[in-house]
Amino acid sequence: MSQIVPMKHQIPYSTQCITDEDIQAVVDVLKSPYLTQGPQVDAFEEIIAKKVNAKYAVALNNGTTALHLANAILLQNTPKHKKVITTPITFVASANATLYCGNTVEFVDIDPNTFLIDFNQIEDKLKQNPNSYAGITAVSFAGLPIDTKELKKIANKYNVWILEDASHAPGAYINYENEKVFSASCNYTDMATCSFHPVKHIACGEGGIVTTNNEKHYKQLKKLRTHGITKNSYEFVNNVTDEAWYHEMQDLGFNYRISDILCALGISQTKKLEESIAKRHILVQKYKQELNKINEIVFQKVPANAYHAYHLLVIRTDKRKALFNYLKQLNINCQVHYIPAHLMPYYQNLGCKIGTLQNAEQYYKECLSIPLYPHMTTDQQDYVIEKIKAFYEQ
Ligand SMILES: *Cc1c(COP(=O)(O)O)cnc(C)c1O
Repeated sequence: MSQIVPMKHQIPYSTQCITDEDIQAVVDVLKSPYLTQGPQVDAFEEIIAKKVNAKYAVALNNGTTALHLANAILLQNTPKHKKVITTPITFVASANATLYCGNTVEFVDIDPNTFLIDFNQIEDKLKQNPNSYAGITAVSFAGLPIDTKELKKIANKYNVWILEDASHAPGAYINYENEKVFSASCNYTDMATCSFHPVKHIACGEGGIVTTNNEKHYKQLKKLRTHGITKNSYEFVNNVTDEAWYHEMQDLGFNYRISDILCALGISQTKKLEESIAKRHILVQKYKQELNKINEIVFQKVPANAYHAYHLLVIRTDKRKALFNYLKQLNINCQVHYIPAHLMPYYQNLGCKIGTLQNAEQYYKECLSIPLYPHMTTDQQDYVIEKIKAFYEQ
């Protein structure tokens, strides 16, 4: 029937959306005195903190280093035998960052409907061994915000911290009775992180950020980002006030800085965050309308009070592999998010066992992220929908 097939083009599961304003913002920085450690970094932190409603934000070179510094600070003074709980249905960096600090990870199964970590199973773990855990890294997977207010009640009972990996979820929020809580706001968490990899909501090329409402953590983040060095005289250990070049290395930090070039792109991208999520919602609504009639497709369950950021649109289907291959030969490139982290050879070698997290493992057999990006055209979406329908009708 319809000949709207952009066969020359590949339809990706996701891709960045770069406008002329984005390009101009980068060019402006290239003509300015500062390529790095300049004013764009502070301005980027300010706009992100404002968007997610957090007090402080520290921009870094990627989302993984953001997770590393958050773990390093939250785990300081914590014995190495204490573990951090996280979900297996995430990018491996959510777990790896804990290992960087010498502590270990305990994977907890997901809720098969929301695909998010199962709070009941978290509480079971904490109850069984109340002194074995330091914290929880909760992932707002696909853009569906973790119910941090509820999780905080559990965390308080067992005295563990919460780190939200909000890589998928800037702009997402939960409407509670008297309160709107944004992902990465840290209203009910200790810290949160985002990634600015090009497939995420805000594209910097590479980039990340940590948000917090804790001033002490904020100062530590800034110091650890740049070799553990401070130039602020009020922070000096030694009493030196009259030597303008003087600075102190006080901790073993890193070079995890992000450049002004990337921050300028990030600022320009962040201005369009709400608009781009709204566009994703319109696309998702159409996908659901068209595909809901297919009994073999199940969508992620979204609680009524949650505003999803739709970084990913994940479906579950028994015929995942066949559907993936069918769409691929039509240049529709879907993706699988994620191979459960506990099944990776590295984590298997650390002692993780196949068959222990059955909801996650079953989910992995069925999950498929179908194409979704804010500038997806009607023709492209109609083509994807038509082919998915054709697959189930054959
Ligand atoms: C992308 C991502 C990361 C890592 O971010 P990078 O910027 O690629 O280092 C961490 N956690 C999740 C859930 C992610 O999707």
